[in-house]
Amino acid sequence: MDHFIYQDGTLRAEDVSIAEIAATVGTPFYLYSTATLVRHFRLFDEALSWGPHLVCYAMKAASNQAILKTLAQEGAGMDVVSGGEYARAIAAGVSGERIVFSGVGKTADEIRAALTGGIRQFNVESEPEMRAISQVATELGTVAPITIRVNPDVDAKTHAKIATGKSENKFGIPISRAREVYAEAARLPGLKVVGIDVHIGSQLTQLEPFEQAYQKVADLTEALRADGHEITRLDLGGGLGIPYARSNEAPPLPSDYGALIQRTLGHLGCEIEIEPGRLVVGNAGILVSKVIYVKNGEGRDFLILDAAMNDLIRPAMYDAHHEIVPVIEPEAATELTPYDIVGPVCETGDTFAKGRLMPPLQADDLVAFRSAGAYGAVMSSEYNTRPLIPEVLVKDDQFSVIRARPTFDEIINRDNLPEWL
Ligand SMILES: *Cc1c(COP(=O)(O)O)cnc(C)c1O
Repeated sequence: MDHFIYQDGTLRAEDVSIAEIAATVGTPFYLYSTATLVRHFRLFDEALSWGPHLVCYAMKAASNQAILKTLAQEGAGMDVVSGGEYARAIAAGVSGERIVFSGVGKTADEIRAALTGGIRQFNVESEPEMRAISQVATELGTVAPITIRVNPDVDAKTHAKIATGKSENKFGIPISRAREVYAEAARLPGLKVVGIDVHIGSQLTQLEPFEQAYQKVADLTEALRADGHEITRLDLGGGLGIPYARSNEAPPLPSDYGALIQRTLGHLGCEIEIEPGRLVVGNAGILVSKVIYVKNGEGRDFLILDAAMNDLIRPAMYDAHHEIVPVIEPEAATELTPYDIVGPVCETGDTFAKGRLMPPLQADDLVAFRSAGAYGAVMSSEYNTRPLIPEVLVKDDQFSVIRARPTFDEIINRDNLPEWL
């Protein structure tokens, strides 16, 4: 459910007209709804209310400070994967005790920054990384709380580029070797084992892979406890999918996911951490764009938009489907026409949809890409020297530009000329 709905013949974000925002901000832009964001965070929080838990928002999905602050005010922790994201969490007022640090290649500098600023735990991805954390912590005269990310070798049944829980993926330590690696963790100075971490992929549309993974985590918890480790936290990662296409089967609800966690792991008495990203922000954001031209090609018509693959790369990168709807609500009886919907970038990959059935559109009409809140703005670039597009946040009847569009001069002046030119 989201808060982008037609009212009086035009698409609104909560109580604000999207056409009105477009007139003020210019297109294209990302638009987020506070009500949707908060609603989705609370669904996860309530799904785990049967026991001690922390929902750590995976900010790589959308990391604008205003989004982080909105969620932090709801009590969210943060899952970060870089020193930059760690700094963002701190800047948004999240205390170190609520930040978990994931990612396969944490550098010594990143580890140092997190240990100095405060960290709930590092989710360790490899033995060399574990030794590096031990070394930095020892140098700083402190102790780093860690979990070890285990790779349970389950098939997440998602797009290959976002599956992470198979043995051939680069993530975590094979679960078969976990006891050995935990034994080394216990021997190393400067480390305190606090739990186990697992994350099997993104955009999962079934619960079964989670169930398989969590059952393995339950068995591992017992085995590690028998080996003398204190396992008090289970970090179960993110990955719950969202419905991108209206025709698709609806993915599982956070409440069912929470019940599954309780059933598979609840008896262990651990604090549960989860790291949802996409489901929190995916449907809380849309991309608003304008038709520049309608081009009648041979056997097909093109809608050429002012948004392009540099603004939203998911269709080019993951073959992702986004619903694209006109901002002016079409009459119920409007006949639909197939369009290839493309951006202006000089790459064939700059295609958002092929043969998409749409009501007839003309130049200057506004369209909205639904479900664009996650892995949208954060993956955008200035390819073709197209400025990063603004982000706008709506709350009730107010809206605010939470990241402004840079001017061409600002972009150009980021480059420096060497002395010899
Ligand atoms: C990407 C990622 C997440 C978030 O995944 P979503 O599918 O957006 O929920 C959580 N944890 C880790 C370790 C990740 O890499």
